Amino acid sequence: MNNQNTYAFLHKQIPVLIVLSIFPGLGYVLLGALHDIYLPALVWYGMVLLLSLWGFWLYLHFKPESMGRHQLKVWYRKIGIFYYIFFGLWLAIFLIYIRVDTYQLHYIAVFTEIGASVVAAILLYPDRRLYRPTLLALMLPLIIYFFLIGQLYSYILSAFAATLTWVLFYTAGSSHQLLMQTYHQASHDQLTGLYNRHFFIEYLQRLMNTLRDSGHYSYLLLIDLDHFKTINDSLGHDIGDTLLKEVSLRLQQHLPADHVLSRLGGDEFIITGAEYTDRQSCEARAMALSEELLASLKQSYIIERHHLYISSSIGVSLISADSDNANRFIKEADIAMYEVKATGRDGVFLFSDEMSARVEKKLEIERLLHFALENNEISLHFQPQLNAAGVIIGAESLARWNNEKLGSVSPAEFIPIAEQTGLIVELGNQILERAFAALRRWHDQDLHLEQLSINISIRQFMHHGFIDEVKRLSEQHLTAELLHHVVFEVTETLVAEDINRIIAIMQELHTLGIRFSMDDFGTGYSSLSYLKQLPIDEIKIDRAFVSKLDQDEEDQAMITTILKMAQVFGLSIVAEGVETEGQWRYLRERNCNYFQGYLFSQPLPAEEFSAFYRKRNSLASNG
Ligand code: C2E
Ligand code: CA
Ligand code: CA
Repeated sequence: MNNQNTYAFLHKQIPVLIVLSIFPGLGYVLLGALHDIYLPALVWYGMVLLLSLWGFWLYLHFKPESMGRHQLKVWYRKIGIFYYIFFGLWLAIFLIYIRVDTYQLHYIAVFTEIGASVVAAILLYPDRRLYRPTLLALMLPLIIYFFLIGQLYSYILSAFAATLTWVLFYTAGSSHQLLMQTYHQASHDQLTGLYNRHFFIEYLQRLMNTLRDSGHYSYLLLIDLDHFKTINDSLGHDIGDTLLKEVSLRLQQHLPADHVLSRLGGDEFIITGAEYTDRQSCEARAMALSEELLASLKQSYIIERHHLYISSSIGVSLISADSDNANRFIKEADIAMYEVKATGRDGVFLFSDEMSARVEKKLEIERLLHFALENNEISLHFQPQLNAAGVIIGAESLARWNNEKLGSVSPAEFIPIAEQTGLIVELGNQILERAFAALRRWHDQDLHLEQLSINISIRQFMHHGFIDEVKRLSEQHLTAELLHHVVFEVTETLVAEDINRIIAIMQELHTLGIRFSMDDFGTGYSSLSYLKQLPIDEIKIDRAFVSKLDQDEEDQAMITTILKMAQVFGLSIVAEGVETEGQWRYLRERNCNYFQGYLFSQPLPAEEFSAFYRKRNSLASNG
């Protein structure tokens, strides 16, 4: 697998060898002329020049970034032949000069042979297949030559030559080993022994070049362990490390030999598949393999008597000829993997263009949301809440975002993004301030709401500065009395957090007069025991139940149960999403307290809300 490094090394040596041959070669031509072997020397030198030209051509045509696997192999074969012939030529000149009966030429020939061997050992050591036969071919004739002279001094020289041969083999061998070790360290991950990111990107680039030439397909699987950090944090890094090793082992055992597995870092692993001629079978194989890996990784691990379970999220991207950017495919697999994480982890997703569009839009929202806060692009609408007599008693504030570029973005879209990025804290404070200011303004205009409900996201709620911010803003905009008309809507996801801390925060806010409403009730894992612990004043029946009231008996039963339960707990109930007279009647008959929905009004801008309020409530009091 380290071929590419060896190739690069051999490539670098081409000009060295050429220069080392062309200039000393001239010396041979000169000596040849002096000793009447002019012609063979000239022919020999001509061949050296020709071979140098070919070598130079090979030198120029080595482009590892754009060569496919096959092209590289062909190049390597040629470069091997080049080196064999080149050193063969040096052997030839030895054989030519050694046969001339002039002792000066013998000196030259012997020196040449030793020099060529040393050069071969130095230049070719990265590749055993090259340096071993070359050294042998160069040194063996010398040993034999001395031996054949048949005198004591020549036997000794022969033994010297043999020793030198051994020394050269030894040096080249240990340099080779050292180089391989360095390559190995540079291309492998220390902990798991798998290939590292650096190697993988290079490998992927080569694979892509190959696919570009063949028009075939392959795939990338990006595997990320779920909640690995928890294991690391709770059981320590040693156990975390051992787990990573075990995971690597399982992956290795499970993968076919033609797959390449590497660790990108942390708990992220990446795999490339084999080549496929058509897209469908490639896709099918990628998904099937991912499922197998998921199942295999999910089986329990026993590490130092701990039984560990860990699921993983896999993002798949198909590699095809239509891009030559390795990072693009990794990014695609990454996007798909994050989609798995976002939809509850423990699964596989194949990257698609539609997914990419969604992610891009999300990124765009994320980017523009920052400016939205600065530019005051976020405003509040208010949706009336009515009692059973049809009188408006309150309102829910709902965030609206109008952006020059994106148009109007639904809070269902931008609030979750603000939550993920942490921007919700600042955004939530801005919303709080607007809502408080509106309540105050209406109060000053003699419009008295029994309650104004403000949606509070859990991340905002849990933020350490939340209570102080509420106090600060209420002191700025409200009176102590008016605070008693504020309701915070929280969702059931709250119960996933530290319950004692939540209760403490709620109680502190309660003492200020703020009430709490459980939003979207019935959609989450509403646990009665939790609900009983929390100082909740109101429940909002989710729109999903209300909308199906007319048809679904199960939803009717659900609502009836919720209503009865709320009465037992002494909670008031708001039904949201009331769209038809029928729904309204049904809910009214079962003593639901308040109603909110398109049947009465959409969420309205502040001025429209106050106009609507006055019109409707004067009608109600007159009628
Ligand atoms: P939610 O709190 O459940 O708000 C109710 C949603 O139902 C609102 O959508 C409202 O416009 C819509 N709705 C009201 N009546 C009807 C009806 O009769 N039929 C139908 N089909 N829909 C109705 P909206 O304004 O798009 O808000 C969506 C969600 O965004 C909210 O759900 C809430 O979770 C979140 N959100 C909105 N504003 C804020 C905010 O200021 N802060 C936070 N943290 N979240 C907010
Ligand atoms: Ca709400
Ligand atoms: Ca709701």
